[in-house]
Amino acid sequence: MRTKMVAGNWKMNHDFPTAVDTVSEIVDRMEAMDTPEVSVVIAPPYLHLEAIQQMTEDFPALHTSAQDCSEHESGAFTGEVSAPMIHSVGCEYVILGHSERRAYHGETSEQLLKKMSRAFSAGLRPIYCVGEQLQDRYDQKQEAIVREQLNDVLGDLTEEEMNRVVIAYEPVWAIGTGETASAEQAQEMHAFIRGWINETFGADLADSTTVLYGGSCKPANAAELFSQPDVDGGLIGGASLKAEDFMKLVEIRNAL
Ligand code: PEP
Repeated sequence: MRTKMVAGNWKMNHDFPTAVDTVSEIVDRMEAMDTPEVSVVIAPPYLHLEAIQQMTEDFPALHTSAQDCSEHESGAFTGEVSAPMIHSVGCEYVILGHSERRAYHGETSEQLLKKMSRAFSAGLRPIYCVGEQLQDRYDQKQEAIVREQLNDVLGDLTEEEMNRVVIAYEPVWAIGTGETASAEQAQEMHAFIRGWINETFGADLADSTTVLYGGSCKPANAAELFSQPDVDGGLIGGASLKAEDFMKLVEIRNAL
């Protein structure tokens, strides 16, 4: 069965006290929900990961994620954080291939393959991001771009590995811009991604893989997006920073 999921990518936001306040409010609102059916993932900056993991570990529906991991196992890589370190604080997920990492850090498919392998070896579950640029959409190349991103990094995984992957479709033109993909555009791409999983790994994995939508998703547009048959939830940037907005998204996903 596919998991309903709402994941908040805080990016480089929130100092430590604000992070703690935000998570306390998330925890309170999760406690007030009657047996939530939705998995809620919080991806704070590395620095806050251990504390947030400790604040959330008694709640089975709450999970933590890193926003990236190093392609290396350990060693002289100043500023890097390894997958085993992330796992060692109890964190379960790692976001890989976010468009901001691809754009500002020049992250390539070769590096992402290594990061993916580090994540699996450490016992983490990757949330792998794919999505086209605006020009690709104008040129109607969105499927070709996403197919390449899927083939390059997920194409050679074993079924067991693929079973641990969450995919996030994030059209780059909709990230942080206020511009959202329409529910039809999101559904079309999610169906395409599920078709790719079917071709590559078979029907069982196509049915069971969680595919999230990301890109200016907020309480006002979430119900329409989350009610699409192939959209299992959202990877949320801006609207994950305030517990109230984020929990509205969680409640909307839970109720559908
Ligand atoms: C993201 O960065 O993953 C994202 C979806 O951001 P936003 O919700 O702010 O568009």
